[in-house]
Order: sequence, then C-alpha cells, then structure tokens
Amino acid sequence: MASVGAPASARRPRRTTSRPVLAIVGAGASGTLTAAHLLRAAPGQWRVVLIDRGSHGTGVAYSTRDPRHLVNVSANRMSAFDDDSDDLLRWCRAHGHAVGESDYIPRRLYGTYLRDLLVRFAGPRDLDLVRGHVIAINHDREESEFALELRDGRRVVANAAVLAIGNPRPAPLAPTHANSRVIEDPWDPDALERAKHSARVVVVGSGLTSVDIAQTLTAASTVTQVIAVSRHGALPRAHLATKPTAIPPPVTLDEKALGLEDVSRAIQAAVSAQPSQWRSVVDSLRPLTADLWRGLSLDDRRAFLNDVKWEWDIHRHRMAPPVAREINTLLAAGRFQVQRGTVAAVTTTSTAIIVHVERDGERRDIVADWLINATGPASALPSAEDPLLQQLLARGLATPDALGIGIACDSTGALLSAHRGANARLFTLGPPRRGELLESTAIREIRAQAKAISSILISQRSAAHR
Ligand SMILES: Cc1cc2nc3c(=O)[nH]c(=O)nc-3n(C[C@H](O)[C@H](O)[C@H](O)COP(=O)(O)OP(=O)(O)OC[C@H]3O[C@@H](n4cnc5c(N)ncnc54)[C@H](O)[C@@H]3O)c2cc1C
Repeated sequence: MASVGAPASARRPRRTTSRPVLAIVGAGASGTLTAAHLLRAAPGQWRVVLIDRGSHGTGVAYSTRDPRHLVNVSANRMSAFDDDSDDLLRWCRAHGHAVGESDYIPRRLYGTYLRDLLVRFAGPRDLDLVRGHVIAINHDREESEFALELRDGRRVVANAAVLAIGNPRPAPLAPTHANSRVIEDPWDPDALERAKHSARVVVVGSGLTSVDIAQTLTAASTVTQVIAVSRHGALPRAHLATKPTAIPPPVTLDEKALGLEDVSRAIQAAVSAQPSQWRSVVDSLRPLTADLWRGLSLDDRRAFLNDVKWEWDIHRHRMAPPVAREINTLLAAGRFQVQRGTVAAVTTTSTAIIVHVERDGERRDIVADWLINATGPASALPSAEDPLLQQLLARGLATPDALGIGIACDSTGALLSAHRGANARLFTLGPPRRGELLESTAIREIRAQAKAISSILISQRSAAHR
C-alpha cells in the first residue's frame, strides 16, 4: 500500500493495466468502506486509488480527537460489514479495548477501525492513498476512462469512479461574514482549539454537533459556559441503556401512496398509545424510511425538510447514554444552556462578539467570546467552495436531485447525467444521496451502499471477461 504523501499513482497520468482501477474521491467512512468492500470481496482484482484532501479513513465524524465524543449507535450495529456484525467488536477486543455489544465507543476509535480496514484488506499493490483535492473529473464517452484532475496538477486515470465526498460544509451564518470571532466550520478538528478557555461561547444550532462542542469546551475549562441557540430550542433525545423493544411499524407500504400527513398521524397515534415506547416507534420506521420518502410528493418532501425534519432528527439521532448523562449534568449546572430563538445579527467590540437573538418578536443580546456555526450541512448544492461538484454539474456528468440537496442517482448510486441517463461506472454514496433516500448518512446505510457498488463493479468485470 502506498503511503499518504507518496502517491505513486498520481505522479503522472497512469494508463490502466490489466487490472481495472477504481478511483474514490473522499476517504471518510463512505470512501473507506467502498474500498474495503471491494478489496475484501475481490482480492487482487482491482487497484483502488483513494483520494482525500485531508487524512484517510476518518472524514468529518471520526476525526475528532476528543475521547468524550462517542458514536451514537451501539458497537454491535456499527460493523463495516452487514454479513459480519461482530467485526467491529472483534477488532476492538483484539486491539485491547474491552467493548460490549451495547457500548458506544469513542468516535476516534471508530476512525482507527476504519483506517485499519484498508490495511487488513489491501494487498501490497492494491491500494494507493493519495492526498489531494480533486477539482474535476473528465469522462467524454461511455466507454472511455475517467481522468481525475487534482488541484496541484496531478491526474489519476481510472476505469470507474466513486464520489464519496460527504456532506457540504454548513452554510455560512448570513449576518456574520468574515468575522474573526465566528467559527464557521465546527467539524474542522482544529477549529474548537481557538474557543477553548473562553468564558462564554454561543453555538447556533442545538443538534449533536452542539453537544460535541459543549462537551469539548466545558471539559477544557471549568469557567466556560456554552449557550446553544436554535429555532426550536430542542436537544437530541437520549438512547436508553437497553435496546428498545422491536415493534411493528405504525404504517405499511401498500398500494395507496401515503402523504406526509398520513405518516405523521400514524406516528403520533402510535406514540400516544404507548408514550414510553416512542423509541421503538421511531426505530420501527427505519427499514421503511427510504420507500416512504420516495412515495411522498415533492411538496411533502419539502414541507418535511422545512418543518418536520428537526423533530425527526432529535428523536432518530439520539445521544449515547454516557453523553446524555454528561450533558444533563452540564445543563443542571447552567454550564450548557439551550435557548429558543434565531440569530438576527452580530456586532463585535474589541473584546467580544454580541449576538442579537430574536424570539417571538423580542430581541436580546448575548455577549460572548465566540460564535460557532453548528447549523448542519448546507442544504443547497453545490456549495461555492466545491469546484468538483461545480465542474461535474457544468459538464452534465452530475445533476442535482429533485430537491436540490444532493446528487441525482439511480437506486444503485449510479449518477444520472444530464444527457445520458445513469452512468454505470460513476457512483456516489452516503450523504450526497440524502435527497433520494432521506436517511443516507449512518454507517448502516453507508455500508450497504458500499457493498452494492462493489458488487456491481465486480459483476461488470466478470461480464467483461466472459
Ligand atoms: C459529528 C458526526 C457524528 C456522527 N456520528 C455517527 C455515528 O455515531 N454513527 C453513525 O452511524 N453515523 C454517524 N454520523 C454520520 C456520518 O455522516 C457518517 O457515518 C459518515 O461519517 C459520513 O462519511 P462520508 O465519508 O460520507 O463523509 P465525510 O466524513 O464528510 O468524508 C468525506 C471526505 O471527502 C473528502 N472530499 C470531499 N470532496 C473532496 C474532493 N473534491 N477531493 C478530495 N477529497 C474530497 C473530504 O475531505 C472528506 O474527508 C456522524 C456524523 C457527524 C457529522
């Protein structure tokens, strides 16, 4: 395996030899799992070039250095392989971590597991890890190779390509352009360092990222207070220590197309009937979510994203029990506060940032040291800082999905081009499929998509050799 920083494959244009080459753009969980699935299922048959502008194997979620940041899914459900659900548990134990099935492991440990998958399944000449920013992919004819251009001028030539580019970064906080007391990207591992040891930090958004921030900043200094401000002022709910009882879903997929109101009513009825079982109701919908989502009209899907998604998210993406305990302690001590409101404007003085928050027509000011953007991935595609997506859209190799929040693709993840239908050798997986599937960011979905892409590539190669 070539090491990062010594990208033999990218020094000069490479012609594909007898083995086909798969280029994967993005080496977070999605790219890493795609590489691991292909190398595991077809050892020695493919050469994989895994390209990332940052480090390999961790991406946004698993690059945190803070051991308090735990995964929000228990260890027995985060294996890289759905046909081997104990893989993560065995790996943890083999590496000296006493992890039980229902434990929630540190996300940085999960990042080490992901990185190790590459070592486990790649033969000596099967994998090139390339550090670089892909800014364009050229693919002129159906049968031609893909030519990937990196920002520094290097090129990678491949027979197939996968866009594992993750979520767009959060949209900048509108009123706060280029303000030196605003941290726009809370997922940059170095970003929070600047805010450590402050007296007060305001976070916009009260989802799981705000929870991460509260944990890190309050642990760094006993004087720091974190105030999260969001439209709804609601924190994610917590997992129970034990797995919720499995129950049948409150809706079924029959011939009658269900609207958003039908689904909402059915969920509310099921929760009202058994309020203490709300987790079971939410979890029961997981296998149906993509089909229910596809069955909604475009207007209903938009209405869900605008008005309902926040409530779905806080019940669906829950805090690990140890994280919830820590957050409750911080809330009780006033060191973490969650307030309902929207940030209308900010002003800065020489020593502080003043955050003007509006709620029910009233305005109040919070004086803080830092303002952090934890509003979640930007909803519009492409973001201004993404030259690759801009190029793919301009060339017609990619098109936005119907909601304009992800990349249009068929049910296998093959990109739908503007002119030619599905491109059977250009795929995407993970967050870029959120418009099509709604739930497309958790490991459970990503590993299934990675496996499906690798199976298609393997059968295409077998067909070519027949
Ligand atoms: C804070 C957080 C915690 C989470 N916790 C969990 C959890 O506990 N359990 C769970 O199941 N899911 C969790 N998730 C969901 C998570 O999104 C997925 O598990 C997964 O990490 C998504 O990985 P990805 O590879 O698709 O995206 P990313 O992690 O964003 O990786 C994309 C990679 O692509 C690279 N890239 C993008 N464009 C280019 C380009 N043009 N050229 C080169 N490189 C490029 C980026 O540098 C990046 O490394 C969490 C998500 C977040 C944000």
